[in-house]
Amino acid sequence: MREFDCDLHYHSPYSVGVSKNMLIPIIAEQAELKGLNLLSSADCLNGHWLKHLKQNLIEEENGIFKAKNNSINFVLGTEVQCSDRLHHVVFLPDFNAIEEVRKKFSNHTRELDSIMGGRPRLRLNAEQVAEIIFDAKGILGPAHAFTPYFGVFAYFDSIKTAYGEQGKKISFMELGLSADTFLADKIPENRNYVFLSNSDSHSPWPFRLGREFNRIKLKQPSFKELKKALEKKEEKRISLNVGLDPKEGKYHRTACQSCYLKYSLNEAERVKWKCIECGKEIKRGVKERIEMLSDGKNKSPDFRPEYLHSLPLQEIIQSSVKIKLITSNKIQVLWKKFVEEFNSEINILVDEPIENLIKVDKDIGEKIDCFRKGFVLFEEGGGGKYGKPIICKNKKEFEQKKFELEQKEKKQFSSEQKKLFDF
Ligand SMILES: [Zn+2]
Ligand SMILES: [Zn+2]
Repeated sequence: MREFDCDLHYHSPYSVGVSKNMLIPIIAEQAELKGLNLLSSADCLNGHWLKHLKQNLIEEENGIFKAKNNSINFVLGTEVQCSDRLHHVVFLPDFNAIEEVRKKFSNHTRELDSIMGGRPRLRLNAEQVAEIIFDAKGILGPAHAFTPYFGVFAYFDSIKTAYGEQGKKISFMELGLSADTFLADKIPENRNYVFLSNSDSHSPWPFRLGREFNRIKLKQPSFKELKKALEKKEEKRISLNVGLDPKEGKYHRTACQSCYLKYSLNEAERVKWKCIECGKEIKRGVKERIEMLSDGKNKSPDFRPEYLHSLPLQEIIQSSVKIKLITSNKIQVLWKKFVEEFNSEINILVDEPIENLIKVDKDIGEKIDCFRKGFVLFEEGGGGKYGKPIICKNKKEFEQKKFELEQKEKKQFSSEQKKLFDF
């Protein structure tokens, strides 16, 4: 079996807010630099994008497609929105299955051939959508399950209840940028599911495409093998999840939407979700939502792979050279130098021995080492404000900075204000 680095969810220019550069030849070229081997086609139910896919992809056997400029593998996939306001990640075996599903969906949406319908909104509930996809021999699971908008846990307490009769056929869930394995496995039901970490990218550049990805073991790239990887958890086909630390997410912690003071669930309830500093609304965070559904145990099932927190290489370079603009020339030059030396960005972030990286640039090499060892702290995001990474040199600095951050948070309210949390 071979390992494939896979990004299985992003969008085409026919979804809202997506770069015009999101075209198969560019996606394939950038995926190669990133080090991805298998991608979703994205938005495969949209008529306009389908035409682009047929023109730019060559069909191989077994549901695999290749771009004309390199050997990156694609499977047919998309995201759809149902009438329960949930997003679903979908994969289909071939163009015939796409036509079958388009026909069934066309009675329930006008967006399949709209120029903004890459992620079609369907007047069918989650159960009905799942049934149509499964009838077409497709695969389906919840997208970014924890986001406060369109994530299954925003509206439901479990995946089973969201999908009704089809619930037992759901085998995987996508974590999304706001959660990781450690958070998701706090909810007991989730320990039954395979986890995917995908970028949901809106542009093809390597600081977006593949910013989250999955390392998956396949005998050969094929739709059937991917299906196995997602459905047969006991085969442990997913060998690594890589993604951003959810603490960076802007809705990670429960916090005031105006002044960003952080609250525990109890504190927010005591003050009726009104900030005691500025009076504005407090927004519940993903961390607290997960706490509500948790059984208090920190355990992952035996089949669960490691989750590596990382940042795109350009962002690591950015923090090293201290330049605000990520597209600046200096960052691009350094990025290119690394990728030319070591083949791909994923190889640099995950696999290449650190001593080799340090030879090219000591500071950047050491920073990547810190990510691999988990010595990265965050001023946590919340209330709509992104978190900020603090990359520590070693365990000692990590512990020291962690203590300082905890102290700082304890002091955010005055003793007078703290009395408002008591009865
Ligand atoms: Zn979505
Ligand atoms: Zn406030």
